[in-house]
Amino acid sequence: MQIRSLTLREIHLKLLTPFETSMDRVTERRILLAELNLDSAFGWGECTAGENPFYSPEDTQTCWHIITTYLWPMLKGKSIDSASDIWPLLEQVRGHTMAKATLETAAWDAEAKVKNLPLWKLLGGTREEIPCGVSIGIKETVEELTAAVKKELDSGYQRIKLKIKPGKDLVPVQHIRNLYPRIKLSVDANSAYRADDLHLLQQLDAFYLMMIEQPLGWDDLFGHVAIQKNLQTPVCLDECIHTYEQAEAAISLGACKIINVKLGRVGGHLQAKRIHDLCAKNSLPVWCGGMLESGVGRAHNIAMSTQSNFSLPGDVSASARYWHQDIITPEVTVSPEGTITVPTAPGIGFLPNLKRIDTLTTRKLHLT
Ligand SMILES: [Mg+2]
Repeated sequence: MQIRSLTLREIHLKLLTPFETSMDRVTERRILLAELNLDSAFGWGECTAGENPFYSPEDTQTCWHIITTYLWPMLKGKSIDSASDIWPLLEQVRGHTMAKATLETAAWDAEAKVKNLPLWKLLGGTREEIPCGVSIGIKETVEELTAAVKKELDSGYQRIKLKIKPGKDLVPVQHIRNLYPRIKLSVDANSAYRADDLHLLQQLDAFYLMMIEQPLGWDDLFGHVAIQKNLQTPVCLDECIHTYEQAEAAISLGACKIINVKLGRVGGHLQAKRIHDLCAKNSLPVWCGGMLESGVGRAHNIAMSTQSNFSLPGDVSASARYWHQDIITPEVTVSPEGTITVPTAPGIGFLPNLKRIDTLTTRKLHLT
């Protein structure tokens, strides 16, 4: 298969409601979309970098720069047997996993379309339905949080994840746990705590959470070892895991018991699959985290989540939770049982809505 052209677009998409974490408050997304022409097929990928480098070192602007200056010249005109050949072609560029994943995931969609297969089957997925959870941002008041949790539980979501930060942790978590003693509940700190907050984190053990996600620094693998050793609640790593080798180190050091896999953070489907397989071999469950994706990124997350060790509900939820109108047809919907039915059409299984994408596009570059 020959890599023929790339169309890179930046779209601006306003969230229905602002999303607040310990790092940031997001009201509008700046999203890069890649449309990669492989033989006769066009594959779509989405860049999951944020508008600023607060979650990871990349942002929308650095990804545009890295893709157009370095990654595209490494791919253009190349012949590949499979999308798994993309990662080695980009190896000379260190890091910049989100920029790489933008093109790599587009190539997977294209390959699946060339082969007339749903992407999830090409990836070796086995689930025809995936369990869904939601991530709820930090709220001003416990009343607001309670209303948000009730709304998501009423919609059927199987797991509630609360974003926490110092001062917005024990009280809201205890309140929600008391109201709902039986739900699957977890928390995500996005690196808001320090090693000497161990005593505070230990108090969260009382609420039998599924996990505490990324309590310490984004690159502090070693610090999490001591935290996990002293907590009953499983630690889940998100920000710390950018590579297969970091996943391997985290597992062998005992830094976590669960890993959150995000396509952009680890560089695309090939690396996500390697980390998935490694975790399966070591009996660590994984799940798919969210990056406030539009429909294209969401569709890739669904395909990835069909692999067997994605055994915990992910943050892949309905389009309508985030957007007035998504950029794909049909939109992603969640059943009253809190599941997404995996699409059967070739590739990502959803059609990019070009008309809608055009109206949202702020810049566009066609590269051959
Ligand atoms: Mg997280």
